[in-house]
Amino acid sequence: MHVLIPAAGSGSRMKAGKNKLLIELEDESLIYWTLKSVFSSSLVSWVGIIGQPNDKHELLNSVKGFASKVNWINGGATRQESVFNGINSLPSNAEKVLIHDGARCLIQPKLINKCALELEENDAVILATKVTDTIKIVDDKGFIQKTPDRKNLWAAQTPQGFSVEKLRKAHVIAIENNWKVTDDASLFEILNWKVKTIEGDSSNIKITSPLDLKIAKLFKKIFCN
Ligand code: C5P
Repeated sequence: MHVLIPAAGSGSRMKAGKNKLLIELEDESLIYWTLKSVFSSSLVSWVGIIGQPNDKHELLNSVKGFASKVNWINGGATRQESVFNGINSLPSNAEKVLIHDGARCLIQPKLINKCALELEENDAVILATKVTDTIKIVDDKGFIQKTPDRKNLWAAQTPQGFSVEKLRKAHVIAIENNWKVTDDASLFEILNWKVKTIEGDSSNIKITSPLDLKIAKLFKKIFCN
């Protein structure tokens, strides 16, 4: 299985003054922990890490022994652009690809395997969890417009896996139509192409804010003890 890891964000919401994936958790960088999980999956055969050229040295340095096992790909201005660069850098024999955000450093290898196995039977899969909060749609002025029925609401995570041919096609159509999305499954949805959800785990958080980092520290302690 081929895996692409978007890691080219600026981390502005983390206010760390550097790529948030370089922040340390239990003495290693966040991107180190992401790669450790990815390489723990026996189904993973090729890994591409998508980063900003000016972060290349520090990111690769921080992942230690994994540096020689990953393929470096230059990222773009948005996650969407970074993933498109990743798709274009995949080896020509790659038929399916898993995309996993570098910022989800607590992903468990068994969930990566679950996605990889489901991807063998489907053209598009994503890990997601059932939403427990009641979600409101709010207008620009701060007033509630409506409350979608919670039983149909899922929070999207990564890995998200796709047929490479279809994913490339979806990204090209998105560029032609100027569609802007925050995950890859969204492109399939706009195109009315089926995406299968796989129930994930609430511990697979995306590290975005300083509070997430504190939560991740607690989760890591729970998993390791
Ligand atoms: O900003 P956010 O946390 O939603 O980003 C999700 C993932 O996409 C992160 O792992 C981040 O490094 C990556 N990203 C990227 N290229 C960008 C912006 C974000 O690869 N230009």
